[in-house]
Amino acid sequence: ELASFMDVNVMDVISACMSLGIMVTMNQRLDANTIELVADEFGFDAEFIDADIEEAIDDIEKDTEADLSPRAPIVTVMGHVDHGKTSLLDYIRKANVIAGESGGITQHIGAYSVEVEKGKKIAFLDTPGHEAFTAMRARGAKVTDIAIIVIAADDQIMPQTEEAISHAQAAGVPMIFAINKIDKPAANPEKVKDQLAQKNLLVEDWGGKIQSQDISAKSGLNVDELLEKVLLEAEILELKANANREASGTVIEASLDKGRGYVSTIMVQNGTLRVGDYILAGSNHGKVRAMLDERGRQVKAAGPSTPVTILGLDGAPTAGDTFRVFEDEREAKSLATRRSQLQREQTIRTQKHITLDEIGRRIALGDFQELNIILKGDVDGSVEALTDSLQKLSTEEIHVNILHRGVGQITESDVLLASASDAVIIGFNVRPNGTARDLSDKEEVEIRTYSIIYDAINDVKEAMEGMLSPEL
Ligand code: GDP
Repeated sequence: ELASFMDVNVMDVISACMSLGIMVTMNQRLDANTIELVADEFGFDAEFIDADIEEAIDDIEKDTEADLSPRAPIVTVMGHVDHGKTSLLDYIRKANVIAGESGGITQHIGAYSVEVEKGKKIAFLDTPGHEAFTAMRARGAKVTDIAIIVIAADDQIMPQTEEAISHAQAAGVPMIFAINKIDKPAANPEKVKDQLAQKNLLVEDWGGKIQSQDISAKSGLNVDELLEKVLLEAEILELKANANREASGTVIEASLDKGRGYVSTIMVQNGTLRVGDYILAGSNHGKVRAMLDERGRQVKAAGPSTPVTILGLDGAPTAGDTFRVFEDEREAKSLATRRSQLQREQTIRTQKHITLDEIGRRIALGDFQELNIILKGDVDGSVEALTDSLQKLSTEEIHVNILHRGVGQITESDVLLASASDAVIIGFNVRPNGTARDLSDKEEVEIRTYSIIYDAINDVKEAMEGMLSPEL
């Protein structure tokens, strides 16, 4: 990665490391110091943008034990398809859990919280499944305290049940088993518990430590008992937060709403979020214009473990992005800008070789001067004609460079050349042979084939204007 940033050979970077007395392999991570020294060898100044951002965020004062008070648990529901995850979430959402509350929660906002008994709340992430859970985790979010693993009692432990268990275990998140569909005549909860025991997952009835509850998500039977067990687990975990500070937490989902602009559901995990606060969420920022709870009611403040929908961000952050309130509006703004810059650069760098789609984007960034093309055709006449037309597309900003042209199939050596010189291969009435195709996949070299000269010229032109629609 460092080699490609500097546009030098990987082996040169490795030998530079060796000359500094550091033995490394190609895929080894280098620490910041080494990167600075190596970059310097090649005449570059290393700047650590991401680290700067994290540092700025880390600078924010830490909570002391005295600042903390108990907070509600945040729960994710996982399990095999059709075992009843959605039914359980729906039942809890619609149930009139707190006495006196009129009606349930009708809209989906990605998360909701319910009051199980006076003063005891549970927040649920309303996107079931371990895929969403793990995608969030991959973005660095730790937003689940407890996982409910739903297993249908008329079925058995299934592949996705096992996956869900492994994902929860990998995240170090305690599990509670909800053995579902016990209203069904074929239900056999004991069989499920036996299977769990065989996997070394001993539930309490079986003398183990893991809580489990037989339920029917459909009728709601024993769902209250399940929620009690969640509260019990939460007590053991001693979940705490500091409500008296600027808010931070995780983005659960975000979208663009026609009338309201960007709408984001976030989970406050520490501090209290207030209308008017200035926040940085992923690479977006903005002032919280309005906040709504899961029932669509306006709220002015949201404390720890509270999901809220906020209006006012300048874009839609990604689920799993963290957010944080900044006192200084300019700081949030500049961090957001630097983050999006970094993201843009990273997408470009992970692209191994140039494609026509990429060209427009790079031109827009102003760091692209030369478009290298390798041209193969079926007859000399068409190759000449295409070469002329393509070269004429050159502008002041970008030069079209025909690296190689020839008559015949696209071969391995064309692909190797393209790979080495970051070129795109254009075939006119010819196709790549098998080895060339395999190699182009491996080297991520783009091959485009045409049978109409005009189409080829047009695609290159549109790419240069940044208008090419991505190839399917
Ligand atoms: P998911 O794929 O895990 O989200 O499963 P769903 O919640 O969509 O449920 C799958 C099917 O099982 C649906 O037809 C539900 O009505 C049914 N189902 C869910 N829970 C129960 C239950 O407790 N009892 C019965 N009889 N059916 C249930």
